[in-house]
Amino acid sequence: MLKKLIGKKLQNYRVNLNEPDISHPVNLISRKSVAVIGGGIAGISAACNLAERGFEVHLFEKENFLGGKVGSWMFESNGETLRTEHGFHGFFRQYLNLRNFLQKIGAYKHLIPIDDYTILFDKDKKQGFKDLDNTPLLNVLSLRKYGIVDWKTFLNPMGLPFINLLNFNFSTTYKNFDGESFASFAKRTRMNEKMRLVFNSFARAFFAEPEDMSMAELIKSFHFYFLSNEDGLLYDVLDSDFQSSFIAYVEAFLQKHNAHIHYSTPVTEFAKSENGFTVNGSLFDYCVLSTDVKHTKRLIARANGFEKYAQTLHQLSSLKQSGRYAVLRLWTNKFEADKTLPFFIFTDRLKCLDSVTLYHKMEKESAEWSKKNNGGIFELHSYAVPKDLVSDSEVVEHLLNELYHYFPELKGMKIFHEYFQHRDDFPGFHTNQYANRPEVKTEIPGFYLAGDWVKMNNCTMLMEAAYTSGAIAANYILQTEGLRENQLVSVPLKGILA
Ligand SMILES: Cc1cc2nc3c(=O)[nH]c(=O)nc-3n(C[C@H](O)[C@H](O)[C@H](O)COP(=O)(O)OP(=O)(O)OC[C@H]3O[C@@H](n4cnc5c(N)ncnc54)[C@H](O)[C@@H]3O)c2cc1C
Repeated sequence: MLKKLIGKKLQNYRVNLNEPDISHPVNLISRKSVAVIGGGIAGISAACNLAERGFEVHLFEKENFLGGKVGSWMFESNGETLRTEHGFHGFFRQYLNLRNFLQKIGAYKHLIPIDDYTILFDKDKKQGFKDLDNTPLLNVLSLRKYGIVDWKTFLNPMGLPFINLLNFNFSTTYKNFDGESFASFAKRTRMNEKMRLVFNSFARAFFAEPEDMSMAELIKSFHFYFLSNEDGLLYDVLDSDFQSSFIAYVEAFLQKHNAHIHYSTPVTEFAKSENGFTVNGSLFDYCVLSTDVKHTKRLIARANGFEKYAQTLHQLSSLKQSGRYAVLRLWTNKFEADKTLPFFIFTDRLKCLDSVTLYHKMEKESAEWSKKNNGGIFELHSYAVPKDLVSDSEVVEHLLNELYHYFPELKGMKIFHEYFQHRDDFPGFHTNQYANRPEVKTEIPGFYLAGDWVKMNNCTMLMEAAYTSGAIAANYILQTEGLRENQLVSVPLKGILA
């Protein structure tokens, strides 16, 4: 009964973001061209949604593969050719639009569930969340059994602000909390250690240190991942590398709809002209810019013809990217001792290591290598590399030492191959960014923005935000051409107490 009431209050966990008019035609009859710049999930989304309707789509990608942060590529090491990626990705069940897309292109069958959402702390203590109640609100109450909340959490006068976690609302949450960092919120509410640990894992999913992470973004994230759906914290992963389980399907879909994919083609020449956009020398009617924050800022700084659009220029130039993050993948001759661990584990960071993924347990290609070589493939992440660790070798050394702290049985392992990435191309979800964050639709006719960093009035984040933003950009273009929009959905836009 209570579960039903909660479901009703939360609109059965799904709301429509638009109401497509079914009297409008589906397909374009005239010729209209669109340049989509950046082939990550956001660009893929815009390109697929428009090519399918008959637009002449040109997708420009600087790398020789599509996918951006879910791309995968080959490298040579000690005489072997191996595949690697930007890093482990979890596909949560409330990624409603992205999942619909995976269904449409035929890739959905590659999703496999993770056993548990686990955090390792100290050497031998772990916290799983498999047994949490799945219903919002009841799941918060069931955090009591893990010592994360207790009656004092909400009754303690210092803890009253915790109630704001339950009443996410676009109109108040950003106004009240975008100026405050998670670290400051935790301090002023005297958040207990275990709750801090859980929220730190949320904050780290946004590649931010607690002192930088906007509390408003964290409240939105807590709503999106925990309080707006009945799926609990569990999620799915792709059963094979991104190329064969996801991107190959995207490429087949784009080819079927006659889209032009320009691999290894960085856009270096970009201009707004009287009747459209010039991209690397060719003229287009529309443009969807779906590059990451770092490259968006670079591209727009060099672009021509945008001078009179001061608001957009100001918004784009003031975007922030995250600090540095690191991903180290290791091909070894040892395995973890605890065979009950799920594929992906958060660690309570000592200095650097935030998570460990057991690729040999998760992904087909890795499992084959592991079987052949009798060793595990481990991927170590640091979502925010501490400022005092500067060189690659320092970061690698810390990641390895912390791996051995949590997995002492791996000490002395032989590392056959390693692939290390030390990057800074994630968007910053830092304090005071929201007010000035640009939206999908800009003041520039025919020019749209897409990416996980774009402001939208829907509850989506990370991969789901990237996909949804590209689909919204496509909807604006469909609308301009008098065509029927695609239906987009979201979890409820307000928290249970809002
Ligand atoms: C290590 C790691 C782990 C993550 N884990 C998760 C997770 O578990 N769950 C989750 O939901 N999200 C996760 N994310 C976040 C997720 O990957 C992103 O939110 C999402 O993929 C962003 O997609 P995008 O299209 O907005 O941007 P991107 O993937 O960054 O795509 C931008 C594209 O633009 C291209 N580009 C840039 N400049 C140019 C140019 N001048 N010309 C042409 N092309 C250009 C780039 O090469 C890139 O392909 C993770 C990210 C990382 C790095």
